[in-house]
Amino acid sequence: MPPNEPCPHCGRLIADWHNEWYDAAQRTAIYGGQAAMDCPLCGRAVLWFQSRDITAPPLNASIAVFRRSAMLAAQWAPVREPSCGNLAGYIATHPAGQQYRAYWQPSEVQQADQQVTKP
Ligand SMILES: [Zn+2]
Repeated sequence: MPPNEPCPHCGRLIADWHNEWYDAAQRTAIYGGQAAMDCPLCGRAVLWFQSRDITAPPLNASIAVFRRSAMLAAQWAPVREPSCGNLAGYIATHPAGQQYRAYWQPSEVQQADQQVTKP
């Protein structure tokens, strides 16, 4: 969430902004406009104020930019996209996931997937 909204910086259509990969406190700050998400493709800050359209922050605004958690994404993947298996599979095979291919280091994804499957 939100799906299929373009990045105001690079103009690419992002299939899924994956707000759910932020923790609860971060999502609250993003909803309130006190913090920004980053574009998975260009890395620039975007606002998702009150779940409206994705926008660029005002010029010269100093705003915290949060990065999505590989750990939360690794917990999300097998539940929401079970056919992909895990986060690595989601990033490798799912069109929405492929936009996050360069977002984390492969080792970071691998570590998060391993932690999720640990008993
Ligand atoms: Zn972008």
